[in-house]
Amino acid sequence: MNQIVGHLINGEINTQADRTLDVFNPASGQVSKRVAVANQGTVEEAIRAAQAAFPAWRDTSPLKRARIMYRFKELLEANADEICRLIGEEHGKIVHDARGELQRGIENVEFACGAPELLKGEHSKNVGPGIDSWSEFQPLGIVAGITPFNFPVMVPLWMYPSALVCGNCFILKPSERDPSSALFVAQLLKDAGLPDGVMSVVNGDRETVDILLEHPQTKAISFVGSTPIAEHIYKTANAHGKRCQALGGAKNHAIVMPDADLDNAVSQLVGAAFGSSGERCMALSVAVAVGDATADSLIEKMRAQMQDLKVGEASNADNDFGPLITQQHHDRVSRLIAGAERQGAELVVDGRALSIEGHEDGYFMGGSLIDRVTPEMTCYAEEIFGPVLLVLRVESMQEAMQLIDDHEYGNGSCIFTRDGEAARYFSDNIQVGMVGINIPLPVPVAYHSFGGWKRSLFGDLHAYGPDSIRFYTKRKTITQRWPSSKVREGTQFSMPTLD
Ligand code: NAD
Repeated sequence: MNQIVGHLINGEINTQADRTLDVFNPASGQVSKRVAVANQGTVEEAIRAAQAAFPAWRDTSPLKRARIMYRFKELLEANADEICRLIGEEHGKIVHDARGELQRGIENVEFACGAPELLKGEHSKNVGPGIDSWSEFQPLGIVAGITPFNFPVMVPLWMYPSALVCGNCFILKPSERDPSSALFVAQLLKDAGLPDGVMSVVNGDRETVDILLEHPQTKAISFVGSTPIAEHIYKTANAHGKRCQALGGAKNHAIVMPDADLDNAVSQLVGAAFGSSGERCMALSVAVAVGDATADSLIEKMRAQMQDLKVGEASNADNDFGPLITQQHHDRVSRLIAGAERQGAELVVDGRALSIEGHEDGYFMGGSLIDRVTPEMTCYAEEIFGPVLLVLRVESMQEAMQLIDDHEYGNGSCIFTRDGEAARYFSDNIQVGMVGINIPLPVPVAYHSFGGWKRSLFGDLHAYGPDSIRFYTKRKTITQRWPSSKVREGTQFSMPTLD
């Protein structure tokens, strides 16, 4: 019988479940564990634990909450090897890449350590005679986060450090495909001093998500995943009166200008397109070459560099990237590559046939490069989320920008150029939420916020950073006067103007 990945409720692991799901090791294709699916009763337990913990947590000073985050950061660092091992075992991410994921996650914990400063509020003295006014930011209560498989540790850390230091209780529903690392990390919070019940993890699939979405006690939902689910989450949460931010899928383009440092651009493109098997919402999946000469050299240089790609299992740090997450996903990526060829694109490098000795049943796929793609092709319209780089050829920068603006997704985009004027025009006008200038993966640092435009984000506030403090609190504005015993106030029927 395989190990069961359970839930974390009231500081205890609970593996009781009437339904479980298989968790695969993507490098072997074998079931390695099973994950419990939280039903109504399990979610109610987590809610009850949070309700009991909330009053004291809400009244804990921000400095004390921040101190727990300091200890949590140290525990994350001390346990980095185990966290990365768990990521590798279930996601397949190579150890150096898992280290990078963890580090970017820790940066959100560091941001949350600034809670006393972040929650100071706003104060105005003498807004009227003897009248002061201030705004304070109060916690919402119980908030929930639903996260995808591709960053099993980092994306949850985008959410709960901020939510917790704001004084909320948090319920996390990690991806059912690689749940162990998120559960392990959440357990460290107890050792860091977080009171039981403040943070729970409930595992499961859509059944569990629907319960969280509809429960009257969950006041806000943070979601990260694919666009169709993000849209469903956003609409359902809204219909149930909840605040919601739902981050969705992407199709990130890089414009390669004729004046770009092409060798540098190609090195960056290879890493950003194929790192983590392209299973990143900020992966560069489309290169738009301006001019045929640029496209021809780009293709030749890419083809040469791609010969050195090393694909293999997570524990070998010499590998560049690992397997895809499931057989089903492997089949879908293969179908999209075949469809591109059928629709008239040119398959320059085909990664589909890759087989790794000793791992024949793993979900490995090599890098693919597809030239002469056009906007009508399915491979261009859909997010592939695999190790595939599409190349489109255009005549001008305007044409390249139009392609990006017309695309359904608007997460990130970048431009490779030596021309500052072109770069500035691009960043001013392009219709996406995150822009790179000679930077292939412009994932904002933790003290900015992360989010796309168009159908890459449903909601108003972005994830982590300053937006997260607004998302996880509600503003209350207090206007105060202590009347002077020497002044007799008259009755005022007109709208008070405070003059
Ligand atoms: P997914 O949408 O399949 O799953 C995400 C979460 O939603 C999981 O926890 C899953 O259990 C839950 N879920 C799945 N189906 C559901 C349903 N019908 N009802 C309710 N909940 C459901 O996404 P994934 O395959 O785990 O992750 C890959 C996707 O996430 C890609 O599209 C990628 O671009 C996107 N992503 C986006 C960002 C971003 O910041 N915009 C970051 C990471 C990943």
